[in-house]
Amino acid sequence: MGFEERILETFQCQKCRGKAGVIQKVALPTPSFPKLFSNTGKYFLVTCTLCGYTELYDMAIYVKGEEKVKKSSSLTQEA
Ligand SMILES: [Zn+2]
Repeated sequence: MGFEERILETFQCQKCRGKAGVIQKVALPTPSFPKLFSNTGKYFLVTCTLCGYTELYDMAIYVKGEEKVKKSSSLTQEA
């Protein structure tokens, strides 16, 4: 699990400030994406259960960022 739980823990809707969200994993075709992106085509959506606002993350990039955060230890982003 890991990062999904982390996202839901820290999730706050940008529109309504609600803190309840659900994650859905999706795979999207990315035929014209430039190579600088990871190009796995895997994303996850975090949808606010109060207003329906949805954020879209590139899974590969997000997971990579998580690893960096772990290595640089004490950077916490708690509200
Ligand atoms: Zn919302």
